[in-house]
Amino acid sequence: MSANEPAKTVDFIRRIIAEDLAAGKNGGKVTTRFPPEPNGYLHIGHAKSICLNFGIAQENASSICHLRFDDTNPEKENEEYIESIKKDVKWLGFDWKSNLFFASDYFDKLFELAKVLIQNGDAYVCSLSADEIREYRGTLTEPGKNSPDREQSPEVNLDLFLRMRDGEFADGSYTLRAKIDMTSPNINMRDPAIYRIRRATHHQTGDKWCIYPIYDFTHCISDALEAITHSLCTLEFEDHRPLYDWFLDRLQPQLKQHPQQIEFSRLALDYTVVSKRKLIKLVNDGFVAGWDDPRMPTISGLRRRGYTPESIRNFCSRIGITKTPNNVEIGFLEGCLREDLENKALRAMAILKPLKVVIDNYPVDKVEEITAPNHPQNQELGNRTIYMTREVYIDRDDFMEVAPNKKFKRLVTGKEVRLRNSYVIKCEEVIKDPNSGEIVELRCSYDENTLNANPEGRKVKGVIHWVSATQSIKAEIRLYDRLFVNANPEDGGDFLANINPSSLTTLKDCPIESSLVKANSGDTFQFERVGYFSKDPDSTEEQPIFNRAVTLRDSWAKISEPRREQRKR
Ligand code: ATP
Ligand code: MG
Repeated sequence: MSANEPAKTVDFIRRIIAEDLAAGKNGGKVTTRFPPEPNGYLHIGHAKSICLNFGIAQENASSICHLRFDDTNPEKENEEYIESIKKDVKWLGFDWKSNLFFASDYFDKLFELAKVLIQNGDAYVCSLSADEIREYRGTLTEPGKNSPDREQSPEVNLDLFLRMRDGEFADGSYTLRAKIDMTSPNINMRDPAIYRIRRATHHQTGDKWCIYPIYDFTHCISDALEAITHSLCTLEFEDHRPLYDWFLDRLQPQLKQHPQQIEFSRLALDYTVVSKRKLIKLVNDGFVAGWDDPRMPTISGLRRRGYTPESIRNFCSRIGITKTPNNVEIGFLEGCLREDLENKALRAMAILKPLKVVIDNYPVDKVEEITAPNHPQNQELGNRTIYMTREVYIDRDDFMEVAPNKKFKRLVTGKEVRLRNSYVIKCEEVIKDPNSGEIVELRCSYDENTLNANPEGRKVKGVIHWVSATQSIKAEIRLYDRLFVNANPEDGGDFLANINPSSLTTLKDCPIESSLVKANSGDTFQFERVGYFSKDPDSTEEQPIFNRAVTLRDSWAKISEPRREQRKR
């Protein structure tokens, strides 16, 4: 998808923005915002919204994008989430500059605006319980019923509202509601709540408030107060747009701004859940090791897995912005990572399934330094030193006593193969465990004239990776697979029932090149012929840990190819 990629078409939101700019609307300015609720870590779906909102700001000289925490649910929010969100947005490569806001910054203002609605007869204090409100609301096919408090005078409403704020009433005993239309076909317009009583300590405002504004009221006003021009959100808010506009229209004299809400479709990835509620469940119930578990679709999980900001940005740019369902194969995300790492990951060698090889004609104590390129194409990435010794490890899968077919270009009894960047060796003898019959060691010989040179008079086609047995270090290697066994984790109704029991395989004591000792946590390498691996932050000097970011090729595509073929037929 790189060289032949079709010219990028501009999405419908960028088109609207370009038209608005051309028409000089909003004083020729564009201001967007990314408005996360700090009730969990950001995930790949959020990355789509971040790349859209911050991307638009980057693309237009007169544009900025705000980071605003939509923090109206103190019980579910906390500082840890706030800090993680800031870190993830920055890591993705975006900058809100001085434009960091909290909806809670506007609690005083929101309170004043709620009073305006009351005074204008556009809001009332309702004494119905939560259950009664639900009952009065009606259904999609039946209209709702008016609250008995609906016709209360503004004076009574104002008095009750102030007393709600002053803590005179129990949680849930009263709500402030917009007075719109209980028969509206749009249920969101059936006198929605504006404020509720909730005695909860807020991470920003402490115990100042015992009433909190509802999202729909807060969001549009926050947008207007920040002079957001284009309020971009996901499609589930389409039915809320009339309410967004209703509040802003009623409060136009006070706000003097009316941002435009535009909806686009949410990203959904197969084999993945992207809902904070479900992700929290995975963390809290111990299905994963934490928010940044490399199997999680969170930004922090993807980072720990070895994803680069570029690969995620590329992914977001390629999936596009539309109103049609945005269900993407996870292989597409992996492809974006592979493509990015192919050019920049340094190469190294590591053995996941070690098989010892003793080269009998190699001097016993010799340690030979060999200079190996860090990247086969890009010389600018420099070289490293690898060490050839009499004993080395190769991967068990790279040896067979008898070649199963002509395609097997690895080591076979009595035949030769090249050790990558080193000599050609020949397998002379296979040593087996006398009891189990398992191959425990290979005795080989080497041709000393084959370092950087072809062997004389014969062709050796196979090249395998290897690591010195004495000059290597041992690492723990973690192999990750899909977290769910079903493309749609909701199949059958319970996503927890579809968890893949073998989504993590841990390999201990894998020999890896000693040059990897110096790697920093987060550095990602291509372990030649194996895959891309990223050094885990839990690594210690004695125990480096590497996470498999992605395999070299899409092995899933191979499996699903025949199935796709079948479907076509
Ligand atoms: P979740 O369903 O994970 O709880 P949310 O919408 O409640 O998501 P917010 O913190 O409110 O989470 O989201 C912040 C912004 O990110 C919103 O504008 C929201 O529309 C957007 N967003 C969330 N999930 C996705 C997604 N899957 N695809 C695109 N945008 C998303
Ligand atoms: Mg939300």
